[in-house]
Amino acid sequence: MLLKTKEDYLESLRSIKKRVFLFGEEVNDYVNHPLIRPSINACAMTYELSHKPEYGDLMTTHSSLTGKRINRFTHLHQSAEDLVKKVKMQRLLGQKTGCCFQRCVGLDGFNAVDSVTYEIDQDFKTDYHQRFREYLKYIQENDLVVDGAMTDPKGNRHLSPSEQADPDLFVRVVEKRPDGILVRGAKVHQTGAINSHEILVMPTVTMREDDRNYAVSFAIPANAKGILYVYGRQSCDTRKTEEILIDVGNPNFGGQEAVIIFNDVFVPWERVFMCGEYKFTGALVERFAGYHRQSYGGCKAGMGDVLIGAAQAVAKYHGLEKVSHIKEKIIDMIHLNETLYACGIACSAEGKPTASGTYLIDLMLANVCKLNVTRFPYEIARLGQDIAGGLLVTLPSDQDFASPEVGPYLNKYLKGVDAYRTGCRQRMLRLIENLTMGAGAVAYLTESMHGAGSPQAQRIMIGRLANLDYKEQLAKEIACVEDEEEQKS
Ligand code: SF4
Repeated sequence: MLLKTKEDYLESLRSIKKRVFLFGEEVNDYVNHPLIRPSINACAMTYELSHKPEYGDLMTTHSSLTGKRINRFTHLHQSAEDLVKKVKMQRLLGQKTGCCFQRCVGLDGFNAVDSVTYEIDQDFKTDYHQRFREYLKYIQENDLVVDGAMTDPKGNRHLSPSEQADPDLFVRVVEKRPDGILVRGAKVHQTGAINSHEILVMPTVTMREDDRNYAVSFAIPANAKGILYVYGRQSCDTRKTEEILIDVGNPNFGGQEAVIIFNDVFVPWERVFMCGEYKFTGALVERFAGYHRQSYGGCKAGMGDVLIGAAQAVAKYHGLEKVSHIKEKIIDMIHLNETLYACGIACSAEGKPTASGTYLIDLMLANVCKLNVTRFPYEIARLGQDIAGGLLVTLPSDQDFASPEVGPYLNKYLKGVDAYRTGCRQRMLRLIENLTMGAGAVAYLTESMHGAGSPQAQRIMIGRLANLDYKEQLAKEIACVEDEEEQKS
């Protein structure tokens, strides 16, 4: 099956039994759990849109490995145009779900592992690249969701993996066997892990020789023996368990983060893509992070479109949409949002092939993209809250709106412009609340800050890639400063 439908995806998840914990208890039916299901719906949108003819060019492409039509979320980028289409696809999905749809981490993992395994093989005469490509064919042919698992718990951030008091704070190889390896550790902030069919593990920092056992990359089925999942809480998450879902703000979709625990999990050699080649850990981290920093130029712009739309609608319900300062604020929101997108497109258009043939984004522009993402959604959210007004945080619950005693009063007194229903205003305010301080703010704000690396990580990369010597030389030429006359004699 090359292109799963949404229903195929849901059915496939039902058939995968995983050990998922939430509120201290093991969840039996995670597919239908009210806190988890919205995140599954968001991921399912990547399947649903792939069957819509109007999105076929963005959501699907031809595999570079088999020539068959595949979902773009399983593709190795073959051109700058592919990279641009990826960002456009992500913006579209952000617009359709208003949240994190999770599947990009696997896509970014595939592309990073592909080029790095090729380079490891050149250096060490290993066969990781061929193994990885065989694995990816399986993913493409079955149209699977893969969790790209990078972030380890890290313990004391001043210490390397091998220096930690507890040796399991980074995922490590605890035993090598003739048929495979045994791994132990955990990965945190795992986007969409529970909604995935597979987990692709990568190291999280650049490593040295002492960390050799931690320099490991591999893939395993998401229900492999020894794996536990613990669901991450989100602000206002229990609203999803209420009978009426208006107060959730985004009742159908949501993101998902989880902790994955690997309790001595066995990985056969054919699914191991790095094992001890520590000098390539830096390249793998840098490329995965670079691809995901590009991704944010798409998904966050799509979510921004939803928030801008909500702010415009609320302004209309308030009767303020023609007031000049409101119009200016909407323009400011659009300007910031399009700037995010522009960087996502720019780093894609400047993409170049790696030695394996897979295209890599321009790393400088991808890091600039992400550094903007750590700031601009916060300003867009501030403007959205400004336009929404105080009712954003004082609105009574939907149960009160439904109450026979006080409901009629609320519908009378909390109405804005007479032509619009109070309930529409109520829903739109809840959506802005969701995106700027509720469960949706996990993806729109905090993930913008810390996902794909916190701001300092982008600053370091920008400083490293900037070639300041060259810029200084340019200035000297213009200012007619000769190198030899620069130093005082
Ligand atoms: Fe995709 Fe954005 Fe979610 Fe990352 S944060 S998985 S790029 S939707």
